[in-house]
Amino acid sequence: MGPVKASPQTQLRLLELADLDAELGRLDHRRRALPEVTELSRLETRAGELKDALVATETELSDLTREQSRAERDVDQVRTRIERDRARLDAGQVSAARELASLQSEIENLHRRQGDLEEVVLELMERRETLESQRDELTTGRDSLGGEMAEVAARRDAAFKEIDEQAARATDQRASIASEVPADLLALYDQIRKTKGVGAAMLRAGRCEGCHLSLNAADLNVIRASAPDEVVRCEECRRILVRTPESGL
Ligand SMILES: [Zn+2]
Repeated sequence: MGPVKASPQTQLRLLELADLDAELGRLDHRRRALPEVTELSRLETRAGELKDALVATETELSDLTREQSRAERDVDQVRTRIERDRARLDAGQVSAARELASLQSEIENLHRRQGDLEEVVLELMERRETLESQRDELTTGRDSLGGEMAEVAARRDAAFKEIDEQAARATDQRASIASEVPADLLALYDQIRKTKGVGAAMLRAGRCEGCHLSLNAADLNVIRASAPDEVVRCEECRRILVRTPESGL
């Protein structure tokens, strides 16, 4: 690219472009660093953990429910058996002393077995109650987390909307200014902008406003000797240096 020349007025427009590019950069950074985004991803992790815990609890509950009905069926079976034995006894169907004794002992055993099984059922019921209240707590937690997430998402979306509106305004302004900048100067500016974020900076009181370094006397002398329509660059950051009455030349 050959040496670019532009009138001082045109060069001043580069400062407007630089301001808008800086604003667009800030907006982009704000969009990416929005605290709501971090907050939401933290809540999403928590929601995932709650969901897993809920699934585990539900699975355990349905296992327990199955176990409980199995134990209840066993109790019923033993109870039926006792009733049948007792009916035989009451009907006087058994008269032989040995048979009688064996039937009575069977009934006693069955009663003990019934007691044991009923204890098992009771224990299972207690465990189920504990799990059910655990599940209810998890469900409540999940629901309130869902509400919190919706609230944070709404705040995030409102911030995105505001940022997008500001960015759209800045982009429009930038396009209108860029359309008034000659193509070669704009190309140079944009090429620098790709690596530096903004392509031009004001020379103020002997200092580059882009990299904030003061120019040495030799560089300042070179700029002093340059024609006003010559486009000069900062030796440190290579941005276009725009001269103004405040440049201290
Ligand atoms: Zn500089």
